[in-house]
Amino acid sequence: TELSKIRNFSIVAHIDHGKSTLADRLIQETGTVKDRDMKAQLLDAMDIERERGITIKANTVRIDYKADDGQNYVLNLIDTPGHVDFAYEVSRSMRAVEGSLLVVDSTQGVEAQTLANVYQAIDADHEIVPILNKIDLPASDLDRVAEQIEDVIGIDASGAIPVSAKTGQGIHATLEAIVTHLPAPKGTRDAPLKAMLVDSWYDAYLGVIVLVRIIDGVLKKGDRIKMMSNGTIHPVDRIGVFRPQMDVIDELGPGEIGFLTASIKQVRDTRVGDTITHERKGTDTALPGFKPSQPVVFCGLFPVDNAEFEDLRDAIEKLALNDASFSFEMETSAALGFGFRCGFLGLLHLEVIRDRIEREYNIELITTAPSVIYHVYMRNDTMIELHNPADMPDLTHVDHLEEPRIKATILVPDDYLGDVLKLCQDRRGIQMDLTYAGSRAMVVYDLPLNEVVFDFYDRLKSVTKGYASFDYQMIGYRQDHLVKMQILVNDEPVDALSTMVHRDRAEARGRAMCEKLKDLIPRHMFKIPIQAAIGGRIIARETLAALRKDVTAKCYGGDVSRKKKLLDKQKAGKKKMRQFGKVDIPQEAFISALKMD
Ligand code: GDP
Ligand code: MG
Repeated sequence: TELSKIRNFSIVAHIDHGKSTLADRLIQETGTVKDRDMKAQLLDAMDIERERGITIKANTVRIDYKADDGQNYVLNLIDTPGHVDFAYEVSRSMRAVEGSLLVVDSTQGVEAQTLANVYQAIDADHEIVPILNKIDLPASDLDRVAEQIEDVIGIDASGAIPVSAKTGQGIHATLEAIVTHLPAPKGTRDAPLKAMLVDSWYDAYLGVIVLVRIIDGVLKKGDRIKMMSNGTIHPVDRIGVFRPQMDVIDELGPGEIGFLTASIKQVRDTRVGDTITHERKGTDTALPGFKPSQPVVFCGLFPVDNAEFEDLRDAIEKLALNDASFSFEMETSAALGFGFRCGFLGLLHLEVIRDRIEREYNIELITTAPSVIYHVYMRNDTMIELHNPADMPDLTHVDHLEEPRIKATILVPDDYLGDVLKLCQDRRGIQMDLTYAGSRAMVVYDLPLNEVVFDFYDRLKSVTKGYASFDYQMIGYRQDHLVKMQILVNDEPVDALSTMVHRDRAEARGRAMCEKLKDLIPRHMFKIPIQAAIGGRIIARETLAALRKDVTAKCYGGDVSRKKKLLDKQKAGKKKMRQFGKVDIPQEAFISALKMD
């Protein structure tokens, strides 16, 4: 395709503002997919994405469009994830396109993720077309939202297009704006091949599929390509585009976006952001490098049933093949047995992986509390990256600790501002900025990531009745007074319940955890002390009273089958407990005990 007839773009939006629905309408209006094959949110492939209505992996589609000027255009849409955990995926797919549609729900206005995502687009030098969506709803307020886009984001909204992705109104105008307002890609056909590796994933039939954006040169089937980061050579066996189903074509030229397969075995062998060229007569200048995405949140995953450990290993290895940002290593816990310590991009990423293991592989899991990576500076001048509070070295060897901090941006209606400030303050936040746009406040806080990973977002939603939006970025490590708090049940430390806490908050946290555990652990035949400790010092204590428990006593008379049923139930319940010393701890205790409220 001629460069002047190509337009590459992405859609940026806050979650639920209508990105996927708009993508569907663009695909439908252009006849890319026949009406009878159309199902809602075509680009959101995985089950979990559909259920939660979020897009996780970037997806792409090629649309043929005959514009009002009578010319045929090729429009390549890369649909990007909208969630904070996947900010890195957003940034890399942005580099593969020249423009963005900025979708804002005209009944809501600009939200925190709108800002985070649009700034990524601006950083990537995109031309931006604002779209005011959901104009079919009575609460739609075009003037207010257009003004907000100018005030808060600082881009011209005079050409904003009123759209209803639901009814299809404004979709034609959107397609015309893509053609007339967004720039065509640049590139040289005769130059050596230079292609950007935008994304890759594993397909059970085809092996690894690599999404590429051709910058210069031409890519053909049979070409021998070289990954510039590590020099590996692969013969290309297939080239194609997504419409959105795979469609094999002969070649990809400059400005085009498509896929290749080349008998690559693992997603880990493809580095996102890498430059692909030809083995012979290749380019020697790689594209500016991308940093690989690093896990920031760690937790332990253990099978409820110890016999399923090998199945869990198998599931985790398979998932990791398709997700290079997910890391794992074996972990043994005195309380939980054999499992894995896993690293994730954020909490949503964690939940997605955990759900997939439970659902697709049918393994029930115990998840331990999420932790961040602490930097532990030792007296001998070395630094240890601590992924698991249970591994905290002896304090006598430790000089000081640093923890990761984030810059959090929260947009919230005035009425709830006080609650939000209190929440941030409670989580050791430092206020950096507070500004107003209409009746909404934008608050920026410097917060410790460890106070956010666990339940901050849930708390934020609940104190603001869902009206606040939130986004964050990492800003670096800073020293603070952090200590490891242990929980002892029946006088024995339960490693899976160890956490890192701020010294000033340790007592309150310790008390809260002991109280919670007292409710979560069933009574036993003997009394059980539950204690929180720092080093050897007990800082909180509860006692769970003894109980003689005999469920079968509930049945009068001699109904043997009913008695047996009850015993079976009891046994099944037991399987979900972890025996610790003489004490059974239910699996949900490991996570519930840490919730702060
Ligand atoms: P995304 O999270 O940005 O991908 O948002 P979705 O496309 O999943 O849309 C979120 C919700 O808004 C869904 O329930 C859509 O049906 C609905 N929605 C999207 N566009 C419109 C619109 O123009 N009008 C109305 N009334 N609802 C819309
Ligand atoms: Mg979506």
